[in-house]
Amino acid sequence: MLPSLFVSHGSPMLAVTPGPAHEFLTGLGATLGKPRAIVVASAHWGTAHPTVNAVARNTTIHDFGGFPRELYTLRYDAPGDPTLAEEVADAIGAAGLEVAVDRKRGLDHGAWVPLMLAWPQADIPVFQVSVQPSLGPAHHFELGRALAPLRARDILVVGSGSFTHDLRRYFGQPQETPETPDVTAFAGWMDTALREGRRCDLLTYRHKAPYAEAEHPTEEHLLPLFVAMGAGGEKLAAERLHTSTAYGVLRMDAYAFH
Ligand code: ZN
Repeated sequence: MLPSLFVSHGSPMLAVTPGPAHEFLTGLGATLGKPRAIVVASAHWGTAHPTVNAVARNTTIHDFGGFPRELYTLRYDAPGDPTLAEEVADAIGAAGLEVAVDRKRGLDHGAWVPLMLAWPQADIPVFQVSVQPSLGPAHHFELGRALAPLRARDILVVGSGSFTHDLRRYFGQPQETPETPDVTAFAGWMDTALREGRRCDLLTYRHKAPYAEAEHPTEEHLLPLFVAMGAGGEKLAAERLHTSTAYGVLRMDAYAFH
């Protein structure tokens, strides 16, 4: 059975900049093979209620500003799977969450940047589920639980965010900038809690983890982790697939939940 995944997409420049996270994602397709479909919970689609995009063919949304022209020419127009997306929306509704279907939206860069590296042919059906920036970890864990049965059907569930994400300290830094101590402390606490399966601590990380509010001034880039956790099954079994740091403050860690 497929694991669910959390991946860090960091800066949009990840798509075109060599580095450890770029290399990790480039190898991910060979590691996981070719799933039947992929559903991505991306930090870059925030809505009041969980929403699923159900389109026959995705467009590529360039939802960032101030980056080099090259980034705006990249396209990842993967097919969608409207039937499966509608079915997933029903499953989310059956789990007791209010849910909507969007029949127009394509893929934001939180979805297409990692997928473009891992599965560059763009021939696997992809759809997204939105996150709710103000509803916190427990809600996203429940959202993930509604997606868990997909794993047995060869459908890959991916949460795409950033393990740390203080953009105030990101701009103007070289990619190789050494990691700051607060980033090390926060990421270390999170990794230990994940390895030890401390679900309750993780769901209340904002009160327990050191520097939680500094690393995530807003929560949307960590919420996909909880979707992946929820999709991983009843017993929290996390495996770290990758760790690296970009620009001193963006931890690019990735986890599989088995
Ligand atoms: Zn992002």
